[in-house]
Amino acid sequence: MVDYESVLIKHRFKFKKALGQNFIYDEELLDEIAVAGGADGATVVEIGAGSGSLSRMIAARAKKLDSFEIDETLFPVLEETLSGLDNVQLFSNNVLELGIETVDMLIGEPYVVIANLPYYITTPLLFLFLKSELCGSITCLVQKEVAERICAKDGGDFGALSASVQAVASPRIVRIVKSWDFDPQPDVDSALIRIDRKNDAVFSDALDKFFKDCFAQKRKTLVNNLTAVGMNKQEISDALRELGFSQTARAEELGADGLMRLGKALGAV
Ligand code: SAM
Repeated sequence: MVDYESVLIKHRFKFKKALGQNFIYDEELLDEIAVAGGADGATVVEIGAGSGSLSRMIAARAKKLDSFEIDETLFPVLEETLSGLDNVQLFSNNVLELGIETVDMLIGEPYVVIANLPYYITTPLLFLFLKSELCGSITCLVQKEVAERICAKDGGDFGALSASVQAVASPRIVRIVKSWDFDPQPDVDSALIRIDRKNDAVFSDALDKFFKDCFAQKRKTLVNNLTAVGMNKQEISDALRELGFSQTARAEELGADGLMRLGKALGAV
């Protein structure tokens, strides 16, 4: 067993709140995350190696782990905590700057993402991997309320984020993880979610924009929100009628599938 906290202290590591550094050391919980993400025999991509605690548990099960960590002060720590593992490759790049084509090229084969995400970039990271041609699923810890929004089918929580994820994937909450399981302890609880890509469904900038436009003002009708961004009112009315939706429907009434069909009918996605 590796004593991650002692190794961090030995290397005089200072936690950086701005990088979303909330580490986990509980090996039972970490292994549960690795199993939930389907690490067994898989090629796994991890965002944010931290002290290497989750990386080790994933590597013990995976065929190969490619882990990204932008805080280079963690590299001496990781050299120690990940020593002896020959199926782990560490990258110091920011995946958001690399872009998904380059990430996919680096990995070079179908993979799954498993991560205790840095929360300040949860949404851009999810959208990035939903655009991948090679990523089959994303299993990650996110703030509990973000997980609830991602998985909401209707009601107040259902919004552009829910529609975006659900249009191309099936998300579910695996379990809640309490704030005291992290070090340092964040203000809110988290949830482990697993997002499985639907076959051949790839997220795009056009989808992102269309869903944001649909929900621009939640209380307004779709007709109002979409005409506000220059779409033709008659075309929107016709498309809603043909799809069997009311002329006064709001975005949340259509659900992710309905919005996707509307976007296609309007040639927007
Ligand atoms: N996996 C570790 C664990 O579970 O204990 C650390 C998780 S911590 C919530 C998130 C990690 O992501 C931090 O180590 C942070 O430095 C790193 N990070 C933040 N922004 C990143 C980025 N853009 N690319 C890669 N890693 C990043």
